[in-house]
Amino acid sequence: MERTTVLITGCSSGIGLGLAARLAADGRFKVYATMRDLAKGKRLLERLGGCCPDTLEVLQLDVTDLRSVAAAAQRVQEQRLDVLVCNAGVGLMGPLETCSEQAMKTLFEVNLFGAIRTIQAFLPAMKRRRAGRILVSSSIGGLQGLPFNAVYCASKFAVEGLCESLAVVLRPFNIHLTLVECGPVNTSFLANLRRPDPNGSEMQGLDAETRGLYRRFLQHCQGLFRDKAQEVEDVLQAFLEAMGTPCPPLRRLTTQLFTPLLRLRLSSPDGSAYVQAMHDFVFGGGQAGGDQP
Ligand code: NAD
Repeated sequence: MERTTVLITGCSSGIGLGLAARLAADGRFKVYATMRDLAKGKRLLERLGGCCPDTLEVLQLDVTDLRSVAAAAQRVQEQRLDVLVCNAGVGLMGPLETCSEQAMKTLFEVNLFGAIRTIQAFLPAMKRRRAGRILVSSSIGGLQGLPFNAVYCASKFAVEGLCESLAVVLRPFNIHLTLVECGPVNTSFLANLRRPDPNGSEMQGLDAETRGLYRRFLQHCQGLFRDKAQEVEDVLQAFLEAMGTPCPPLRRLTTQLFTPLLRLRLSSPDGSAYVQAMHDFVFGGGQAGGDQP
């Protein structure tokens, strides 16, 4: 039986690593696990018992580098790509006043333009074959604004707009696009993301009230990741379903954690109720959206 070929970006850690390992171990897939630094492929091989199975090929791919994306596409298109998973992503937290121009540009380079570059590289071959799946790691932060995550949410909202628009045009080509929207997941994402120390020099000059809110947000965020975060294994099912079901949905949430707030946001389009509820949820010590966990 012919194997389903899958290319995944951002496989050196977290969700990408977990998905690559799961698919490569399955036997029914040929996985192109891509990452910026090939030396980090060791972790993936360790997960697979130390040797590289014939279901796996590790390729260099930096989503911010057009040549690197083109080289990976060239390598894979000698075969045929059934599923593209745009997973690479970075975070950025903190009061907007502390987000440097460079940090904001880097975030958009990876989260938005990285996904665009990757899709552009693989889409023409999928269109010619009139078949394919594109899965994109979005976030709850692509569906609702989260305090002190303004730039991250802006990038994921942009990804949502990009994919929703694209999905309409891809329908006649039999190409299905799914946004996998995670809430907090136990990966190195939180540890890796850029965020100012509330007592650090970046916060100097910022008003005391915003500093206080930021401290409370960090406590809330740590509690959320400690008590409510999903494990990587828990979110992989969403990716597997998007690959395997005949007509996958455009959006696939991995958790119901934020459903009350999402409902509130959709049912009250002027946004006031959402802003108040999210404020109360994070800063007010209350339960947002009625039955918010
Ligand atoms: P992670 O930090 O473990 O993984 C992100 C991966 O992207 C890393 O392997 C990193 O090396 C890679 N990456 C960063 N810049 C890159 C570049 N220029 N080119 C190629 N790869 C690059 O975190 P994760 O949780 O596994 O994140 C995966 C995706 O899930 C991201 O898109 C993230 O926004 C999204 N997400 C994560 C969470 C969470 O709580 N962990 C929640 C919602 C959405």
